[in-house]
Amino acid sequence: MSRYHSDYLANEINTLVLKKNARFKIALIYPNSYAIGMSNLGVHSVYDLFNQSLDVVCERVFFDPKKKQLFSLETGQALKAFDILAFSISYELDYFNFIKILKQIDLLIDSTQRTVRPLIISGGIVHSFNHLPLANYCDLIFVGEAEQSIPLFIKTLAEFPNINSLRKKNDFLQIFSNLDGFFVPGFSDPQSVKPCFVQDLNSFPVSSKIITKDTEFSNTFLVEISRGCPWNCKFCVTAGICGAFRPRSIKLLKQQIEQGLSLTNKIGLVGAAVSDYPQIDELVAFLREKAAKISVSSLRVETVKSILLKALAESGQNTITFAPEAGSDRLRYFLNKKISNKQIIQIISTANNFGIRKVKLYFMIGLPTEAEEDILAIIQLVEAVSKIVFVKASIGIFVPKPKTPFADQPMADKNILLKKIKFLKSKLALLKDVDFNTANIKEAKISHLLSFADENFLKDYLTKNQF
Ligand code: SF4
Repeated sequence: MSRYHSDYLANEINTLVLKKNARFKIALIYPNSYAIGMSNLGVHSVYDLFNQSLDVVCERVFFDPKKKQLFSLETGQALKAFDILAFSISYELDYFNFIKILKQIDLLIDSTQRTVRPLIISGGIVHSFNHLPLANYCDLIFVGEAEQSIPLFIKTLAEFPNINSLRKKNDFLQIFSNLDGFFVPGFSDPQSVKPCFVQDLNSFPVSSKIITKDTEFSNTFLVEISRGCPWNCKFCVTAGICGAFRPRSIKLLKQQIEQGLSLTNKIGLVGAAVSDYPQIDELVAFLREKAAKISVSSLRVETVKSILLKALAESGQNTITFAPEAGSDRLRYFLNKKISNKQIIQIISTANNFGIRKVKLYFMIGLPTEAEEDILAIIQLVEAVSKIVFVKASIGIFVPKPKTPFADQPMADKNILLKKIKFLKSKLALLKDVDFNTANIKEAKISHLLSFADENFLKDYLTKNQF
């Protein structure tokens, strides 16, 4: 095993002991770094679901562009040793890493021309808003929430112990072709694919399976407290692809937190809008009683309460994050984000009173109806907040997404975006106690194309760009 692998494993708490002699070997591949992959609760959840089956042993693989060969983390095996390569993809731009991985192992060919083994499957949020871009390369794609689909997949796999001919492989794949939650290229009607949603989230608790310092949330036990979002911001995919807002029961969350506290004292609450959790006060009081250090993935200005801000500050969290998206109240209300600059400033003052000294603010430019004064308003808001706390402003680019009210909107012109970014950079650089970063226009443009791409887009793109 390489130093690279053993270093990561040495820093892990609660690494699974993998069973020997399972019938099927699955490589769960996250086509990006260990740090990003292990910060993703979806990866933890799928890894656990596969390994719960007595028939399956699942190992993790992360992508490091500097490494010439890919090996599984747990036992250092080459990808060709696995029966199934299961990708978990969160960002459209990771499609390119997916392609690089298949190229590295000489499997970058149409799935219809591949031999029987390995089976290449993929899941992850990107497939929920467009299941087509990898259609030429994958044998099967999970669409929507996979907690119910994966056990069905494994159960069916166990009924096909010897997929040793193309005919048997096709018989196996055919079974999923008309089921919600699956897209089987070549078998499913692409227009009729429907995502699968978990009926009862309490039957599928999701939390960190492995704790490590090598992630974005160092040594933190993450607990998913809800799915979906009660708000409907017009640009956001959450409402369109994550289904209704579904909070988990507080009883279940308390049990999970108790488990987490046996591994670490840091608990991270994860959800699209953590402060909207209906019993957030009770949950925070419970965490405080247990002397847990708390962190949260996101806060909504209109629902965040003092008890949570105080708990975050007392946990040593020096930074909180809000996403105003727009600088002006007019544009923000148009996006359906009904919070005013006055409310934003008020809540940040309250946070500062509790001892929080840094705020991350996420904005987007290139939004529909955006005018010059909306760009100026970003600078004014950042300046106003910087008089209270240190500001880290992140300037993203609006990328229209399928299944959102803004799906039909065009993306802003590259030159206009460049001009706006240049202007923002010049003004933000003058402000004291402000740090900022701006998005990459080229990446945003490609991400837009991939969001709406058909099954041939990647192939054409790779040919044209000699990828
Ligand atoms: S942007 Fe945030 S608050 Fe708005 S719908 Fe999406 S997840 Fe919910």
